[in-house]
Amino acid sequence: MKKIFILVFLAIVMAGCALNLVTGRKQLSLVKESELRLMATSEYSKFLTENKILNSGSSRDAALVDRVGARISSAIASYYSKEGKPSVLEGYVWEFNTVDAKDVINAWCMPGGKVVVYTGLLPVTRTETGLAIVMGHEIAHSIAKHGNERMSQAMMQQLGGIALEIAVAQKPQETRDLFMTSYGIGSQVGAMLPWSRQQETEADQYGLIFAAMAGYDPREAIPFWQRMAAAGGGSPPEFLSTHPSDETRIRKLTQFMPAALKYYKPTK
Ligand SMILES: [Zn+2]
Repeated sequence: MKKIFILVFLAIVMAGCALNLVTGRKQLSLVKESELRLMATSEYSKFLTENKILNSGSSRDAALVDRVGARISSAIASYYSKEGKPSVLEGYVWEFNTVDAKDVINAWCMPGGKVVVYTGLLPVTRTETGLAIVMGHEIAHSIAKHGNERMSQAMMQQLGGIALEIAVAQKPQETRDLFMTSYGIGSQVGAMLPWSRQQETEADQYGLIFAAMAGYDPREAIPFWQRMAAAGGGSPPEFLSTHPSDETRIRKLTQFMPAALKYYKPTK
């Protein structure tokens, strides 16, 4: 009986593995991206009504987030069109919003390109380039479908691998919580789940390229992550609880730098 269960389990896992178009890595993908985008659209608009969103017409911070978002998203579109993989961005309708919350050091990107930056992050990013490093990294998590991978793992472990639409119908609150945790959304440190080392490395690798293509110096990533690590101190900010910063990250960033610099053309 146990053997049959294991075989069935393995069959589900193998069937649910998909080759990721961005990273070339096989990853667990039990949930359709289109379903996650639908969930994202409704959670994102709910989030916007429940938080204080700054207007880019009157707030310099929001205007900065908008500008970086526009430059990075158009760089990504040209990158994947040159690579012959425009389907990477299928269903992406970019939105960039800034939350007025000076005590929250965080940023995230939901499936389909729904981005949020909290104003508490800006003293750590310091410059437009610093912000581009973080936004490139968050967007890379989304494009590499890391949230789907985490959601699939969690659905397997906690809901027995049932289909998403069934989970939504039968256990709406649990499914919603899994979604939020899988995408690093929220501001409660205790409830956050760190991205895996592999996902962090991939987000750094592609995030550097995206920032560089958008005209931002990727070398700024190293001092930014050092500042972020220092911001940890006694109580780590939300961002650090999902994106641990350590020497391995700095070493990998240094390794990826020559490749990223090939894409960098300063605009100013
Ligand atoms: Zn990350």
